[in-house]
Amino acid sequence: MTLTNGREASWVSYRDFLVDAIVPESETAKSFYLVPADGGALAPYLPGQHLPIRLAMRGLPKPIIRCYTLSDAFDGRRYRLTIKRQGPPADRPDLPAGLSSTWCHDHLQSGDILQAKMPNGRFCLDLSETHPVALIAGGIGVTPMISMLNAASRAGCTREIHFLFALRHGGDHVFREHLQQLRGRHANLRMHILYEQPRPEDRLGADYDAAGRIDASLLRQLAAERRMEYFLCGPPGMMQAVAAELLEAGVENGRIRTESFGPSSLSLRAAMADEEPPRESEISVTFLREGVTVPWTGNSGTLLELAEANGIELDYGCRYGDCATCQTTLVSGEVAYLHPTGATPDPGTCLPCSCRPVTSVVLGS
Ligand SMILES: Cc1cc2nc3c(=O)[nH]c(=O)nc-3n(C[C@H](O)[C@H](O)[C@H](O)COP(=O)(O)OP(=O)(O)OC[C@H]3O[C@@H](n4cnc5c(N)ncnc54)[C@H](O)[C@@H]3O)c2cc1C
Repeated sequence: MTLTNGREASWVSYRDFLVDAIVPESETAKSFYLVPADGGALAPYLPGQHLPIRLAMRGLPKPIIRCYTLSDAFDGRRYRLTIKRQGPPADRPDLPAGLSSTWCHDHLQSGDILQAKMPNGRFCLDLSETHPVALIAGGIGVTPMISMLNAASRAGCTREIHFLFALRHGGDHVFREHLQQLRGRHANLRMHILYEQPRPEDRLGADYDAAGRIDASLLRQLAAERRMEYFLCGPPGMMQAVAAELLEAGVENGRIRTESFGPSSLSLRAAMADEEPPRESEISVTFLREGVTVPWTGNSGTLLELAEANGIELDYGCRYGDCATCQTTLVSGEVAYLHPTGATPDPGTCLPCSCRPVTSVVLGS
């Protein structure tokens, strides 16, 4: 796939980016446009990829790291992130609101600097393919789909695209006008927007197409097209339900691609959790790059936590096996995952944020 024309850049570790503009997209989400602080070129990315960012927040001893999807097609000029303000869980209003998203909404301003690694991720739409595709999004999980839709639109892609977007109500409806424009412009794009709990001011037929959730009949219609490829991104419950319906309708597992934005109970991928308790006393972990070997005990947690406890800096993003930022070469030894991960590590590698050693292991870079 051709990514870009013009100047391109790559960098290792983190690079400074300037917040160029901030645009509200809904009552709960804002877009942040970023340009390289050094005035250099951007790295291209594929539609659906994300950006690991690092935020230095006053009052916190260490910068915090999060991943945010690049929510527009690559244009060579700016990166766009669209961030939803994350409140406390509905059933635990006493807990603190989301650290990074709240800070971005309340404190990040045009002209501020944050740091970002190279774009990353495998949840990408291949515009050179020709078979039909269904992009199924819930809430802020729409960000990779917007990037995919925009890339397809700009490339004049004639692939049949079905876009299903499930929202709570109009208050969360990001990119409303833009999506309507795309709908009017592309005959190959079928759009279906659902509000679960429309408000009195939300207009059926104008803002949304139907009330309720993505239901089985809608998914069965899609599944009737055997060549359809599916991209799912949204809250874990919604993804689980949609994936289950598709599998039930006979869709092959391999045709369903998923991206999770955080801890997810999605069980599409095989759970890799261990059965055998480790023989703790025999286990050591070697970090080859640092030339350090440390013992692992049952209290050491994940390989990432063990590294941090020993002053070793490993890259990470989501800390839940979804973004693959922490992917590290497993030179030798065996690991077990503590929960199903959204990302599948490449052969010969592991995701230290989500696994622990089963035998002594040696980690490369
Ligand atoms: C590949 C990828 C792409 C992503 N793309 C996007 C995107 O495009 N847009 C977007 O908005 N997000 C995206 N995310 C999610 C994003 O990375 C963050 O996870 C999200 O913004 C929440 O981070 P936070 O720091 O605000 O919340 P956190 O501080 O991480 O908190 C998360 C939740 O936990 C709650 N919480 C706080 N303390 C506790 C506690 N003690 N016990 C239980 N719960 C607690 C908080 O209230 C909050 O609801 C993406 C994630 C991944 C992995």
